[in-house]
Amino acid sequence: MTQMNYTDKIRVAIIANGKYESKRVASKLFTAFRNDPKFYLTKKNPDVVITIGGDGMLLSAFHMYENELDKVRFVGIHTGHLGFYTDYQDFEVDTLLKRLRLDSGSKVTYPVLKVTITLLDERVITALALNEGTIKRVEKTMVADVIINHVKLERFRGDGLAVSTPTGSTAYNKSLGGAILHPTIEALQLTEIASLNNRVYRTLGSSIVVPKKDKIEIIPKRRGNYIVSVDNRTFSYKNVAKIEFEIADQKVSFVETASHTSFWQRVKDAFIGEDEA
Ligand code: NAP
Ligand code: MN
Repeated sequence: MTQMNYTDKIRVAIIANGKYESKRVASKLFTAFRNDPKFYLTKKNPDVVITIGGDGMLLSAFHMYENELDKVRFVGIHTGHLGFYTDYQDFEVDTLLKRLRLDSGSKVTYPVLKVTITLLDERVITALALNEGTIKRVEKTMVADVIINHVKLERFRGDGLAVSTPTGSTAYNKSLGGAILHPTIEALQLTEIASLNNRVYRTLGSSIVVPKKDKIEIIPKRRGNYIVSVDNRTFSYKNVAKIEFEIADQKVSFVETASHTSFWQRVKDAFIGEDEA
């Protein structure tokens, strides 16, 4: 018998939310992995990160490991209701275990958004988003120039602007009237948040889809307080000079799952539901 050495093992991190059902699935997985020599349970430098909960749980896990995206592959198990980043349902734990026992490292990757915030005092903050980044002005209408690849497209007035990834297009972007993008399309989508449009002020109104390598720059024209959101986190800044959005060099990887629920089936299940009789 050949003993598998430490480095042959798949390093697995299990991250669950506090719901009863999630904890139940987590403890089932813990037991299965602990008794299998192919796996090593650890939160440090994992090869595979399994999240149990909803899309929000996966977003949190993404940010826990955002500096190790080249090495980590994610798997989402959803408990309760269907998700977009969550491929497996809680009753499919055995299928997932079988899949991971046969694992050869195959993955699917999706684009991630790089957000660069430059403050008037010249401080620069960068962040990665899996869903979207937004900027809003707190006290008054946000007035900002929107520049795409050095073309000044418009002077925006309204609550704010959002830029989403393809996989984030079904999240906040959709609530803002943006289109749903298939996650294999490498593009970003800029959507308006309550733009002012009348005889004096004009914006495009529709959302726009920007290809890979193009950069979206937003230059606020007023001093004041701004709220910048990156997925589930928000930051507040005084005096933002510029915020830039582009597709990041890094990508997010998921464990490839053969013939799992198709994207369009998920869209239907999440937003439309059962067919009419
Ligand atoms: P949350 O407020 O608990 O959840 C917001 C909802 O968005 C949840 O139902 C969540 O699903 C769902 N969601 C997250 N990512 C999604 C995706 N890629 N496609 C479809 N639905 C998705 O906050 P959270 O769970 O931490 O998620 C943060 C996200 O909430 C942000 O990135 C933003 O996209 C979204 N958001 C939406 C609005 C809006 O629609 N008006 C406003 C603010 C933020 P789960 O229940 O499975 O977690
Ligand atoms: Mn949530």
